Amino acid sequence: MPEKKLNQTANHAIVCSKGQLAVILSQIKGFAEAKVSLEQYQTDSETAATVLWHANMICDLANKKIIDLGSGTGILGLGTMLLGCSEVTFVEKDENALKLCKINAKNLKSEFSDDFLVSFQNKDVSEVLGSFDVVVMNPPFGTHEAHADRVFLQKACSLAPIIYSFHKAATFAFVQAFAKDNGFAITHNWQFDFPLKQTMKFHTKKIQRITVVCVRLERKQ
Ligand code: SAH
Repeated sequence: MPEKKLNQTANHAIVCSKGQLAVILSQIKGFAEAKVSLEQYQTDSETAATVLWHANMICDLANKKIIDLGSGTGILGLGTMLLGCSEVTFVEKDENALKLCKINAKNLKSEFSDDFLVSFQNKDVSEVLGSFDVVVMNPPFGTHEAHADRVFLQKACSLAPIIYSFHKAATFAFVQAFAKDNGFAITHNWQFDFPLKQTMKFHTKKIQRITVVCVRLERKQ
C-alpha cells in the first residue's frame, strides 16, 4: 500500500476518523508543571476529539479561522488544524504553556503545508482583538478565581459568532443565561466525565472525575 501523504494543503483535513484524531491528540505534550492559580488542566484527547469531530460534522471547522483562548498546550486548536481549518491563533497567558504549545505545533508541522497560518499570542484573554469564525476554549472553571470563565465567555462573544466552550456541568444554567444576555443561544451540548489527572501536588487520587459540559453557542441573527 502506498504511504499516506500527510503534507497536504491547509484546507484539507488530514485525519479521516475520530479515532485517528484522538490518537494524534493523545501524543501531544501535557503541562510540565500545571499551575493551580491558572487552573491548568488539559482536555483529555478522547473528549477533545469527540467535540471537534462533531464540530467538523456540522461544518464549523474546515476552512475556518479559529481562535483557541487559554490554549494551554494547544490540544483544541491543534485538533482544529488536523480537521482542516484555514488558520489558528493560540492565546495563552502562561509563557511556559505557550512554549509547549509551540513545540506541539512544531511536532505536527510535517502534517501541514508551509503556508498554513498559525500565530501565538502570549497575553491575557481580555487583551485579544480581532474577528474570527469560531472560538474553541476550555477556560478556567472559576474554582480558583471566581468568574474566571465569565471573562473568557465575554471575550469569546466579541470575537466570533460561534463558540465551543467547556464548563462545569453545575454551571450550565449560568452559561445559558449568559449566552441569552449576550445575544447567543446554546445549540448543542455534550456532557463528559472529565478525568482530572493528578497534576497538582494537593491531589490525593490519581484520577478524579468531574462532570463537564461542552456547549456550542451561536450568535442570534
Ligand atoms: N485549552 C487547554 C488548556 C485548558 S486549562 C486545554 O483544553 O487543554 C486553561 C488554560 O487557560 C490554562 O493554560 C491557563 O494558563 C490559561 N489561562 C487562564 N487564565 C487565562 C487568562 N486570563 N488569559 C489567558 N490564558 C489564561
